[in-house]
Amino acid sequence: MANAPEFIIDGLKATVEGKEILKGLSLKIKGGEVHAVMGPNGTGKSTLASTIMGHPKYEVTEGSVSLNGEDVLEMAVDERARAGLFLAMQYPSEIAGVTNADFLRSAINARRGEGNEISLIKFIRQMEAKMKELEMNPEFMHRYLNEGFSGGEKKRNEILQMLMLEPSIVILDEIDSGLDIDALRIVATGVNAMRTEDRGFLIITHYQRLLNYIKPDFVHVMMQGRIVKSGGPELAERLENEGYDWIKEELGIVDETVGQEEEEFKVPMNTTAPKY
Ligand code: ADP
Ligand code: MG
Repeated sequence: MANAPEFIIDGLKATVEGKEILKGLSLKIKGGEVHAVMGPNGTGKSTLASTIMGHPKYEVTEGSVSLNGEDVLEMAVDERARAGLFLAMQYPSEIAGVTNADFLRSAINARRGEGNEISLIKFIRQMEAKMKELEMNPEFMHRYLNEGFSGGEKKRNEILQMLMLEPSIVILDEIDSGLDIDALRIVATGVNAMRTEDRGFLIITHYQRLLNYIKPDFVHVMMQGRIVKSGGPELAERLENEGYDWIKEELGIVDETVGQEEEEFKVPMNTTAPKY
């Protein structure tokens, strides 16, 4: 397990356009672990993903993020990718003029570093094989990145990038949205094949459905820009059966969203989730 990564988020606070969205979030992910972060819309889940990846709109005001002891917040976006962080976005961008294959090869080579580039033949063989696993039409190789892709095709393409880039910390932001049951199964198979001791997962999802296919080790509930409850897979099952209201009642939360007006002090200050 020499390569088992350790990814630690500690007391992270972040603002977007002057509004504080992350309000002190802590999470520890080790190689081999799958953590699910669940929560209703507008609770800060995508903000967490974007902040980790270094999206310029999100400003960290407090706390730390480290990967294998290295300060992630000090790294430029491309350095974070090179260090092994990967985000499959909730809304992947379309880039006209750049083919899927060109994009992926540049990304892989950036990760491998100068002098260690993947050969074109090897790259194409790998890409073809992975696309086959994901049951993607080979024509997607030469289509412009995400341009005119359906919601489900974009999601499959994000997973293709994950399979090719072999990151050490994988963040999937609502990868299940826009996927029908067959596509969900294919995507989950791809993810499960990547579950090894040298890779950790942060799976952000609104619904429990995905977790029937990708079994999490830990489940965290996010409200008001923090993790308010953590547990094992049974927590996701309870959310599936009972929704989120019981958590709000238990914690005295009236409005779980963040970044709206008057959200100050909605979470009692003594609610701390157990740390995993
Ligand atoms: P979730 O992914 O849980 O649905 P988000 O992180 O997308 O939640 O959003 C949480 C809050 O942060 C919302 O109020 C949203 O409007 C705000 N927010 C997130 N990203 C941006 C942005 N780029 N610009 C302005 N507001 C944002
Ligand atoms: Mg989101």
